[in-house]
Amino acid sequence: MPGSDRPTVLVVGAGINGAALARELVLAGCNVVVADDHDIAAGTTAWSTRLIHGGLRYLEYGEVSLVRESLAERARLVRLAPHLVAPLPFYLPVQGRWGGVAAAAARIVGWERLARRWSGPHGRGSIAVGLGLSLYDLLSGGGWPRHRRVRPGTAGLPAVDTTRFPRGQVYVDAQLRFPERFTVELLVDAAAAAAAAGRSCRILPHTAVRIGSDATVDLEDRAGHGERMAVDAVVNVTGAWVDAALAGPLRGLEADGRLVGGTKGSHLVIDSAPLHAALAGHGVYAEAADGRPVFVLPFGPRLVLVGTTDIPWQGDPWEARAEPPEIAYLLAAAGRLFPDHAPTADDVVQHYCGVRPLPAGGRGTPAGITRRHMLVRHPRAALPAWSIVGGKLTTCRSLAESAAREILAALGRKVEGNSRDRPLPGAPAAGGTAALVAATRAGLIAAGVAAGDGLEAAAERTVAVFGALAPAAVAGGPVPGPALLPATHLPAAVVRYCVRREWARSLADLVERRLMLLFDSPLHRTTLDGVAAVLAAERGGGEADEVGPLVVDLERRYGKRVIDDRQPDRRG
Ligand SMILES: Cc1cc2nc3c(=O)[nH]c(=O)nc-3n(C[C@H](O)[C@H](O)[C@H](O)COP(=O)(O)OP(=O)(O)OC[C@H]3O[C@@H](n4cnc5c(N)ncnc54)[C@H](O)[C@@H]3O)c2cc1C
Repeated sequence: MPGSDRPTVLVVGAGINGAALARELVLAGCNVVVADDHDIAAGTTAWSTRLIHGGLRYLEYGEVSLVRESLAERARLVRLAPHLVAPLPFYLPVQGRWGGVAAAAARIVGWERLARRWSGPHGRGSIAVGLGLSLYDLLSGGGWPRHRRVRPGTAGLPAVDTTRFPRGQVYVDAQLRFPERFTVELLVDAAAAAAAAGRSCRILPHTAVRIGSDATVDLEDRAGHGERMAVDAVVNVTGAWVDAALAGPLRGLEADGRLVGGTKGSHLVIDSAPLHAALAGHGVYAEAADGRPVFVLPFGPRLVLVGTTDIPWQGDPWEARAEPPEIAYLLAAAGRLFPDHAPTADDVVQHYCGVRPLPAGGRGTPAGITRRHMLVRHPRAALPAWSIVGGKLTTCRSLAESAAREILAALGRKVEGNSRDRPLPGAPAAGGTAALVAATRAGLIAAGVAAGDGLEAAAERTVAVFGALAPAAVAGGPVPGPALLPATHLPAAVVRYCVRREWARSLADLVERRLMLLFDSPLHRTTLDGVAAVLAAERGGGEADEVGPLVVDLERRYGKRVIDDRQPDRRG
């Protein structure tokens, strides 16, 4: 058995934090088992604003060290995963001049109630925003563009209402459009690093875990295949489900008290060419009429992402939905910024909602609860065990590095390596994207895509999704059926790759978290049929049809309508 002289750590939860921790533990010198009772990145990771940012507004809450850590990670992730994390200029529209200075000062010293009383009707003015951005620049260190004051209404800036917002600043943060793919790549890398070092790394999505009080670990996959194993340590990285896991299948860890008290946040995906054009390639970060932060972000070549709300949430995070009042609130917030291009409910092509895994017991407003993460030890467990509370996409790697250090110290082991300078597997090497597109084109021809079928567009789309993994994703020749997934430029061969190499098990895994078809606007029924056909061939057939239930589920959860473009005689 590879790595039998090494400790084996069980990571429960394959969101961005569990995946980053698994990779870090492998690099540090452990064997790892990662188990998730859903798919990789099926939780909060997929329901975020998708920014890699320092968190400008956390400065007001005195979270200077968190902002500094986040900004260092922002620079690192842009360098190590440039195919997924890209700098994005932000426009910050401002109403007045002095507003918010007294409130910010009160907030920094922890007087939230006074801060709320002192917040004027016009939000933070240019003095408070300028001071915050100067500190943000300082904490960013060198090599990152500084903020600048701009004249609203100038060409090349977002067409925000200049009457309401006569002042503006521009600064740069970063966008991670697909954290789902980032998470999958963390695990691809963990498995590759383990294989190269002769360690073991097992990735087990759709697998239930149960830990008994005698430290026995039972795993059971969706087909009902069970396994009992021995591990040296357990880390509960189930995010917003931390307490539910500790009260249920991880009861054996003997935890006390509540660790997480979440707030839910909703987002809208808007298909509006005028609004997208009005952004002029910038994200807009502004205050809504009630003073809450709101983001209006370009999301690929035609969509716009608007978020978010921040509402205390007690229920099961799987049940959190963007409710009609939240949708109306976000539309109004975007319309207040862009009255000439105000989106309507008809422009909303989907929405989503996630629960922030914030530490329990936070006081004041939801926005004021710390976004810092914590590693909490469970001293009464029969084996070394911890839970991770909180965290952001941005700090997944630094969280993993500090947690791995603490876990190895508790196991009496030396840390052998870390991920500080390790690119993700999809990061393009020398030659960049152009060389990758050329290499992918060759594989596509072998997979049966002809020049007249849109070979170039297929190569570009494959590289956009898989980065440097694109040539591998199309290798292996044709799959049964059409060479391109119907109504897309995505080659059908990538479905086979995701099943064989990226642990995709179901149609939903493929559509929502591997191929990112969920964000196709419009998304066609024949595309889903095409994905399902390759999936069925990979499995050898014999499973129930998943297309119909997925169509229903996409509408129920995300308000996403799949266009039925099948021939009339094939419609169900
Ligand atoms: C509205 C919103 C906006 C956000 N925006 C940003 C942003 O722009 N930038 C940023 O940096 N951060 C942002 N965040 C924070 C960030 O998204 C989360 O902190 C992060 O995704 C948490 O990742 P995780 O891996 O800890 O949890 P999750 O992604 O939720 O993963 C937990 C996993 O555990 C699994 N699981 C649950 N129970 C069990 C069980 N019993 N057994 C096995 N597996 C289990 C789940 O299936 C899930 O896959 C945002 C969060 C929200 C809600």
